[in-house]
Amino acid sequence: MPDPVPPDGGVVVRVLATGLCRSDWHAWAGHDEISLPHVPGHELAGVVVATGTGVSRWSVGDRITVPFVEGCGRCAWCRSGNAQVCPEQQQPGFTHWGSFAQYVALHAADTNLVAIPEGVTVEAAASLGCRFATAYRALTGRAGLAAGEWLTVIGAGGVGLSSVMIAKALGARVVAVDRHPGALAAAAGLGADHVLTADGARDIPGLVVEVTEGGSHVSVDAAGSEQTCANAILSLRRRGRHVQVGLLPAAVGQPRLPMARVIGWELDLLGSHGMAAADYPGMLALIERGDLRPQDLIERIIGLEEASELLPAFDSASPAGMTMIDPHRR
Ligand SMILES: [Zn+2]
Ligand SMILES: [Zn+2]
Repeated sequence: MPDPVPPDGGVVVRVLATGLCRSDWHAWAGHDEISLPHVPGHELAGVVVATGTGVSRWSVGDRITVPFVEGCGRCAWCRSGNAQVCPEQQQPGFTHWGSFAQYVALHAADTNLVAIPEGVTVEAAASLGCRFATAYRALTGRAGLAAGEWLTVIGAGGVGLSSVMIAKALGARVVAVDRHPGALAAAAGLGADHVLTADGARDIPGLVVEVTEGGSHVSVDAAGSEQTCANAILSLRRRGRHVQVGLLPAAVGQPRLPMARVIGWELDLLGSHGMAAADYPGMLALIERGDLRPQDLIERIIGLEEASELLPAFDSASPAGMTMIDPHRR
């Protein structure tokens, strides 16, 4: 493929690390409208190698990461610090070619780029572009998870394990649910207070209510299916808050959800769509202090060729942590 050129207001970044994420699998499976040929990859870190016209805050040589949602930088949402819901948003690996490549073009650099602090590795920084930052914002900015509260995390992949780590740092208590023993072992290693193996038949909400003595205050569906979403909602206590992070693409069908429970128990249903660059400083401060350690969530680093083998199998894989790609590795 030809190397990209920087768009107006944007940059080209030499990719040093990029994550293999379930969202890439959704795109590969045809759940997004994508025209071929295409380059996936949306959680990245690297070095700026070219700047387009109108970029004022960034220069060649800067180490950066970027939220997977690139806001336009001009609309009311972007100006209020909510680029994560920008109506004109671009997404590398979805709306344009992404970071499973040596180079990637990024838009509206002054709005979207985030400097990587000293001491944070590029692999850890890449995870901040999607799964770790999404989990951070879901629990802090959306659900307002507080110390002492119970959190149920369904799906102990990248978002789920990040949620466990962040919730424990916030002083919350955590129940992690997954199909795979390896993922649950990783969750337990990060401090999950209880782990529950889901086999499709077990009454997960009933078990959560039992171990939390009445249900969780907050739930996160990090997997994204009708069953995991419903189980997360039904695991809540009265007036609990659910955050949906796992994707439920319309192409797969609209999920049937227990809305009678939502009404009767006054449950809050919240969506969470990444995190704008404007909200990164608080999270980065916790990472620099060592209170949050995204680098501990990385299970392995692979090359692009191996990535193209793993991507189609992602839905049925059983990773115990995040897979990162070094696109220069052979
Ligand atoms: Zn992702
Ligand atoms: Zn915008």
